[in-house]
Amino acid sequence: MSGDAGSGAPQALHALGVAALAARLRAREVSAVELAQALLARIDAHAGLNAFVARDEEATLVQAREADARRAQGDAAPLLGVPIAHKDVFVTREWPTSAGSKMLQGYLSPFDATVVARLGSGAGGAGCVSLGKLNCDEFAMGSTNESSFYGAVRNPWDRERVPGGSSGGSAAAVAARLLPAATGTDTGGSIRQPSSFCGTTGIKPTYGVCSRHGIIAYASSFDQAGAIARSAEDCALLLSAMSGFDPRDATSVEQPPQDYVAAMRQRREGASAARPLAGLRVGLPREFFPAQLADEVQAPVRAALSELEKLGAVLVDVSLPRTELSIPVYYVLTPAEASSNLSRFDGVRYGHRAAQFGDLLDMYRKSRAEGFGAEVKRRIMIGTYVLSHGYYDAYYLQAQKLRRMVADDFQACFGACELIAGPVAPAVAGRLGEQGDDPVQAYLADIFTLPASLAGLPAMSVPAGFARRAPGQAELPVGLQLIGNYFREGALLHAAHALQQATDWHARAPAGY
Ligand code: GLN
Repeated sequence: MSGDAGSGAPQALHALGVAALAARLRAREVSAVELAQALLARIDAHAGLNAFVARDEEATLVQAREADARRAQGDAAPLLGVPIAHKDVFVTREWPTSAGSKMLQGYLSPFDATVVARLGSGAGGAGCVSLGKLNCDEFAMGSTNESSFYGAVRNPWDRERVPGGSSGGSAAAVAARLLPAATGTDTGGSIRQPSSFCGTTGIKPTYGVCSRHGIIAYASSFDQAGAIARSAEDCALLLSAMSGFDPRDATSVEQPPQDYVAAMRQRREGASAARPLAGLRVGLPREFFPAQLADEVQAPVRAALSELEKLGAVLVDVSLPRTELSIPVYYVLTPAEASSNLSRFDGVRYGHRAAQFGDLLDMYRKSRAEGFGAEVKRRIMIGTYVLSHGYYDAYYLQAQKLRRMVADDFQACFGACELIAGPVAPAVAGRLGEQGDDPVQAYLADIFTLPASLAGLPAMSVPAGFARRAPGQAELPVGLQLIGNYFREGALLHAAHALQQATDWHARAPAGY
């Protein structure tokens, strides 16, 4: 909430979100340089979280000085001087980009990803100051951040637990107040699930809203950039700056720049101050509330849903009958795309090259064997298999057909409701190392995030409170997932904002942060 913006209350800078910090910067109560220095010191003090994989004080300060100079010249860009950081799958000129992989260790891109440039300090950029690069699962494949070559990230709510993944560094850093907001990417849940595990607010927009140019591809027909912050308002601010048509991305949506803050504030017809969501029909897919859904997730999600009702929303039953099938469909299609996308990392065009090898084939083999981790290799093998002659029709083509049916199921729901709600994940953050060597268990836990990804729909994770735990145990956040129809990011943000005006789950900080 930005209610304290400009009030002059002696609140620590790191406790403030994007809107509040932007107000302080505008009022010249703090400079971009001071703010960047304060947060860099905080990042160092909490280096044990392992949220950052690249940090370069001088590169950050160059951007901060530029922001201060722009302000001195009268530039009033809304995000000017606001510190952020990028998931390590966005290529950046000033910081190395590794996608969490040994394969790309030390890689320096000759250009910035479009999203990075739009948010950044260069010409035409929003003027945000980058604090560096955030840890993530290797090539964004994973749900715990443990597949990163740079080691696991710790969850600030309980340092023995995972932050979720693949954008785990982004969510952990925002939750620990190391910075007010970060970018992430979501292919099958990688913005929503870590947001749920870390108590942050995250939005994945409609496929095509943010440019994929300069995002290291995992599964191109799914990958989408988005924002992780501490409120819906802060997500709206970031998304307004980072989205928009990009001629360098063939699947970029040709729509004029959107003002998501205005969309978030738009009053509903028939709404009042007490009932801002009057008449909003929220669909609850019965498949998202199975009988065996853990109470630690179910209870907070239901509590958040009753809050929505108090605000005027009407809950209706809907069905997404192919929810379970989303898992095999996603885990056929995304490895297929990954096997193709990752072929460029061969030690010649890109990536690590083995020090010793025999002939050319041996060089490819050794380089890829050394450069990729186990989960990435597993997916390349699955993807190569499902695309191979003889299996293509049986797996890849079938999965494509089912993907369309999942999208159609959503359209049937949106006849009966405006938004869809449910849990983000079937459990709270697990313990580090707990997942062990059982990839199937991990894949099954993606059940609630995959359907919207298959359909390319916009979706959010909004803090919904905390799992009730035994006395003395750390609180663990739980997210409410909201899914909207195509290009209804504004409606999602509006509902999330209304919930956050009435509750304070999103504003709570983990103990010690
Ligand atoms: N957990 C999912 C996976 O492992 C999602 C990853 C993502 O969205 N990048 O593929």
